[in-house]
Amino acid sequence: MFLLTLIAFLICFSAPTTGSQPAQPAKDIPEPPVVTPAPAQVQPTPPPSDAVVLFDGTSMDAWQHADGKPAQWTPDGKKDGAMTCKPGSGSILSKQKFGDIQLHVEFATPAKVEGEGQGRGNSGVYIQNRYEVQVLDSYQNKTYPNGQCGAVYLQHVPLANACRKPGEWQTYDIVFRAPRFKADGSLEKPGSLTVFHNGVLIQDHVEIKEPTGGGDKGTGDGPIHLQDHGNTVKYRNIWVRPLGSK
Ligand code: MG
Repeated sequence: MFLLTLIAFLICFSAPTTGSQPAQPAKDIPEPPVVTPAPAQVQPTPPPSDAVVLFDGTSMDAWQHADGKPAQWTPDGKKDGAMTCKPGSGSILSKQKFGDIQLHVEFATPAKVEGEGQGRGNSGVYIQNRYEVQVLDSYQNKTYPNGQCGAVYLQHVPLANACRKPGEWQTYDIVFRAPRFKADGSLEKPGSLTVFHNGVLIQDHVEIKEPTGGGDKGTGDGPIHLQDHGNTVKYRNIWVRPLGSK
């Protein structure tokens, strides 16, 4: 019995993301297999009829910076229906806040490859301004697996590296179930994330352990947050389907 207790104790306190220890880059773990997805689509697929459209290429009205100022990221107009991160302007957040959602986001890392590791095509999609699904140019670009494209940052390595080439449009389709909290603010039920990257399942209903680095610590509904990490990552065709509680 003592041995079992000791083993349970060791498991609990050696796990990288439990307790109060901050999650760390895990460099010495296997990289996920590389999977070549279907070719990129030149034109995005239109959203379903009940979607809340957050960006369709025409307006930044649904977005703001964290201080409430108008989003300074640049829409490309009708050229390709995209907006581009303006490095130094700060991340942008949707004005609308969400609980459980289905989220569709398309992104493209810069076609001109610059930098390496975490410095190449870095951005991120934070659900509820708390939980980052990493955006990174992980096409032939090595970094720690729990920080590569499609990682729930520092918490869950993606099941596959399904990145397209730099400059090509890529898709995330995300199902998010928010954590449930008791009236006193303590956790009642952890949240979960399922992510398809370019149609490939890369996160399979993984449990959210805590807000990822830089994430808001609150417990209520929250905005979608697109990260300014200093790289000119593009986004297009962003829509949400609120799922209601379950
Ligand atoms: Mg990031």
